[in-house]
Amino acid sequence: MIHRTDAARQAPWQVEFAAAIRDPETLARVLGLPDTWLVAAQRAHKLFPVRVPPAYLARIRPGDPEDPLLRQVLPLDLEEVFQPQFSKDPVGDLAAQVAPGVLHKYEGRVLLTATGACAIHCRYCFRRHFPYAQAHAARDRWAAAIAHLAADRSIREVILSGGDPLTLNDDKLAGLMDALHGLPHIKRLRLHTRVPVVIPNRVDDGLLGLFDETPLGVVMVLHINHPREIDDAVVRACARLRSARVTLLNQAVLLAGVNDDADVLAGLSERTFEAGILPYYLHMLDRVEGAAHFAVDTARALGLWEALRIRLPGYLVPRLVREEAGAAAKVPVVAVGADPGCW
Ligand SMILES: *Cc1c(COP(=O)(O)O)cnc(C)c1O
Ligand code: SF4
Repeated sequence: MIHRTDAARQAPWQVEFAAAIRDPETLARVLGLPDTWLVAAQRAHKLFPVRVPPAYLARIRPGDPEDPLLRQVLPLDLEEVFQPQFSKDPVGDLAAQVAPGVLHKYEGRVLLTATGACAIHCRYCFRRHFPYAQAHAARDRWAAAIAHLAADRSIREVILSGGDPLTLNDDKLAGLMDALHGLPHIKRLRLHTRVPVVIPNRVDDGLLGLFDETPLGVVMVLHINHPREIDDAVVRACARLRSARVTLLNQAVLLAGVNDDADVLAGLSERTFEAGILPYYLHMLDRVEGAAHFAVDTARALGLWEALRIRLPGYLVPRLVREEAGAAAKVPVVAVGADPGCW
């Protein structure tokens, strides 16, 4: 195999990927952040490194530490505050591994972490402590993952998740898709990804060709938390994905200081619809160590969600859910005492 280290031969998206800001000093300089922030940011950066790709950076308002896009990527001293209910593996991922990088928690669908890399590092990420180095189904270990999928005929859907599967190059994705295509019980491929939003030029001819050609049904669950994350380049990337028969859904995480506001959440649904994306889930924050400052309590979350139900058509209201270790599916968030059967 030829290793392409020559930048001239990299795809434009790979150049963007490599050009991400990876240290707090540069982020501070480019965005005009106060020096007082930097010392604590350097410590938080050691807990989980900064990564902000150029296309996302361009949507952040310079000089505004409260900018909701900046908040998602900004390391803060608050990450060092110990909170008893926040842990390193809040949703029981390590216990659900059935082969390296294979999480089989729910009936009929299996989640494959095919890479540990992401194009952006979100400070609230529930996998910020996940030991990807040992637990992703890297190419040389796909054999074990594929063997699990082949042996269990109840599996109809394979979900590629984070890391971010669209940080894999087309050759690797094609190899994986071919292997899945060889298993007749697998009908759908789902990708959970933030890449088309933060590096829209990843949606290039090569990628679209893969989706166009595969007999698998392809679903893409994007991860967008704020309407301002969707600019014209994202709208164009989504239109191209749809023309390759990809079904587009969005999941957001409810985040204090980012989108815990009925106008913002309603705006997110409206804006995703304009881009051809339907809302899927609004997730309660997973209680991961270092992210407690993003938490929104259940009562407020339900209040916001009720406001959405009143303001928006039903198909633009995401399901409000939380993930619970050991549960058979994502758990709907309901008011205490409410009958879940009526949800
Ligand atoms: C969230 C998740 C899924 C997908 O759940 P859906 O409700 O189908 O979106 C599948 N497997 C694992 C391990 C998950 O965490
Ligand atoms: S897995 Fe998703 S939420 Fe976590 S850092 Fe990567 S892109 Fe962000």
